[in-house]
Amino acid sequence: MPSKLSLHDDSCARCKAEDELIRISEFGKALCAECFPGFLVRRVESLMRRRQMYRKGDTIGVALSGGKDSAALMEMLHSLRGRMRIQVVGLHVNMGLGEFSDISQAAAADLCEHVGVPLHVSSVADFGVRIEPVGQFRQCNVCGAVRRSLLNRMTQKLEIPTLATGHTVDDILQFMLKGLLSGRLEAPRPVLQPSTHRPRKIKPLYFTPESATAKYAELLGLPYTDVECPHFEPASRRFNEVFELLEAKVPMGKMQYAHTKLKAMKAPGVDELERSCAMCGEPTNATYCPICRLRREQAGQRPAEREK
Ligand SMILES: [Zn+2]
Ligand SMILES: [Zn+2]
Repeated sequence: MPSKLSLHDDSCARCKAEDELIRISEFGKALCAECFPGFLVRRVESLMRRRQMYRKGDTIGVALSGGKDSAALMEMLHSLRGRMRIQVVGLHVNMGLGEFSDISQAAAADLCEHVGVPLHVSSVADFGVRIEPVGQFRQCNVCGAVRRSLLNRMTQKLEIPTLATGHTVDDILQFMLKGLLSGRLEAPRPVLQPSTHRPRKIKPLYFTPESATAKYAELLGLPYTDVECPHFEPASRRFNEVFELLEAKVPMGKMQYAHTKLKAMKAPGVDELERSCAMCGEPTNATYCPICRLRREQAGQRPAEREK
């Protein structure tokens, strides 16, 4: 374990104040509320520079779910815009899942107003499809694929070179362990450099735990929603407990796991969009893009709606 571990100290690791301390096990640090936001932003900035997540003059589109992780990311990038010479805009996809989607879009709009950045919204309904299970794909998989496809379309249309998502180390660890247990070494990377059919894709919170984004959002009074998708399957986060237990036994164990796993992945990141949709020509990883797959499926099930 690193010698700089200050998790159990009685004073802030930066300014030595003894005020109420925020203890983040994953960082092995105790910090006061004054020092904590700056500490977190500097960590994110340092990762973005090391991993070449942006170019000077870039516009970075931040995918906003309405939740705390992407809200914290938006605020952090906005606070770094001068130093990094970037601009930030919010991107939101309305998945058309009733009240949940309305609340989520409103939260994304509130956040952008609070931070002072424009928000662009794309709605699944505008494409004449509904999010529902297709074949062996569960609702959450369909939802994720459609959201990624629509975010990609938005960046192309708005000529946004870099797309940032609010995946935290807790999300990344889920992918990593799920992959390992299915015999796959591949896992998401902090950055995928751009190609002709998609922007640079970055995950600036790759080594930031959710406990830290939650604290950041709370300290800065960011608007966000805790509302959960009605179709959320707790099983999709079933490895959370595994990693919480690991962290309790080995402070900073989660970070070490993610760092080592990333190092072990020598092959370049898989480009998940290397084909063109046979129907609409949009980039995809299969014969049809997720939107057209849904269109075909839903038109097949309900021929009467085909003309819509
Ligand atoms: Zn301090
Ligand atoms: Zn298509």
